[in-house]
Amino acid sequence: MTRHIAPAETRPARLQPLAKLPVFLDLARRRAVVAGGREPVIWKAELLAAAGAEVLVFAETPSPELAALAAATPAITIEARPWRPADLDGAALAVAEGEGDEAARFATEARRRGVLVNVIDQPAFCDFQFGAIVNRSPVVVAISTDGAAPVLGQAIRRRIEAILPAGLSGWTAAAKEFRGRLAAILPSTEARRRFWEQFVDVTFISQAEEDERLAELERMARSISRGEVPRREGEVVIVGAGPGDPELLTLKAVRELQAADVILYDRLVSAEVLELARREARRILVGKVGHGESCRQEDISQLMADLAAAGERVVRLKGGDPAVFGRAGEEIEACRARGIAVRMVPGVTAALAAASALTVSLTHRRHAQRVQFVTGHNRHGELPPDLDLDALADPRATTCIYMGREIATRLGAQLVERGLHPATPVAVVSNISRTDEQVAATTLGELAEGAADFPIEGPTLVLIGHALDGSSGAAVRSRSQETEPAAPALAW
Ligand code: SAH
Repeated sequence: MTRHIAPAETRPARLQPLAKLPVFLDLARRRAVVAGGREPVIWKAELLAAAGAEVLVFAETPSPELAALAAATPAITIEARPWRPADLDGAALAVAEGEGDEAARFATEARRRGVLVNVIDQPAFCDFQFGAIVNRSPVVVAISTDGAAPVLGQAIRRRIEAILPAGLSGWTAAAKEFRGRLAAILPSTEARRRFWEQFVDVTFISQAEEDERLAELERMARSISRGEVPRREGEVVIVGAGPGDPELLTLKAVRELQAADVILYDRLVSAEVLELARREARRILVGKVGHGESCRQEDISQLMADLAAAGERVVRLKGGDPAVFGRAGEEIEACRARGIAVRMVPGVTAALAAASALTVSLTHRRHAQRVQFVTGHNRHGELPPDLDLDALADPRATTCIYMGREIATRLGAQLVERGLHPATPVAVVSNISRTDEQVAATTLGELAEGAADFPIEGPTLVLIGHALDGSSGAAVRSRSQETEPAAPALAW
């Protein structure tokens, strides 16, 4: 009988060549032989014991570290003599340190007995490699660079660690325990598949305590068996996106982005930050441009609450920190008014990111007693008439003016009038932490005269105060200095 073979293009793509095959060995109660007693070998002995192996270490003169490890680890036994070939009989794995003939002899004897061998840093005598590990047992992630760059493996490990949810280990352990009961509650494969899909969501989202997890899984399974459509409680999480550089996000912010169904974001939020969001998440720009609003605040609050009421996990992503000139207050009230759960995750606000960009302390002991965050315009884009100018003219304060581009000159003039010295340092910082970051150094006098150099576009923060005296010359790139290399190192 002729079989019809599907056309080539409908076949799944063939696997690309794989440098090494990752496998997860069950070493429970298996014997592992370790020869040698120096640091890398000691670490391998500990690793093998952690994975459940009975570890026999052959070391003629065990170091104090090795002795201490063995004393603390029942699964590790030290034999204070050189290894012999017969020691390898029946072992699952063999690890040694050594070079030359000794390394070759160890590998040959192990291989002769069908024992997988690894002589540390001797690729010719290695049947397997140890990778970098993320241990959230029962979840284990192993990373290999095939020996090319172990330090890169470590860096990848740290990144993976950062994005995994805190409850991963606990939830997976609960799932392992619950698995046996699941088939009785949900006999159909289809229902079990739904259960596991929900389980994945829960691991990334749930805040349940350790001792509630089994009961939660049971509730989930029972509700599926009753044919209930799972209706998650929606919620709103107001998340600070920081000034732009995704590396300035908090780990919590990244986790929320990865758990979101819908993301409502401002124009200030950078594309790089949005890239870290869950791929399936809907992204809605609710940006406001300057003081002309393209989306009314009431509409944003309502949309947010509507989505959450429909069971969605809404992330309201705001530039910088949500608690600083972010109108989070209205959004929190709107949620509360409709009984919707709302949480907040902080972000790095522009003023603090600016301090880092300038390498200054905003509260330098010699110069400043306090820091004030002020907004430079009211709802009509004008200098608010009720600004406390005396407070702003305090020579012992560092003043950070948000949304201050349009009013900076007028404000500068008023501060000089109030007695703040025209030589007071001013920094104009735009697009902080982004590739197009611009930093200009000037003085209050220049600012008041309209001579300060403002970049053409991008969010701009104006900082005023003597604390800026210490700005690192490298970080402060006055535009005028770029065009006139002969100018003094700093304008102030
Ligand atoms: N919640 C934000 C502030 C929102 S108001 C925060 O905490 O940073 C918008 C103003 O913030 C902008 O007009 C500008 O003054 C400032 N700002 C925000 N991000 C900035 C950035 N990357 N560079 C410079 N200023 C920024």
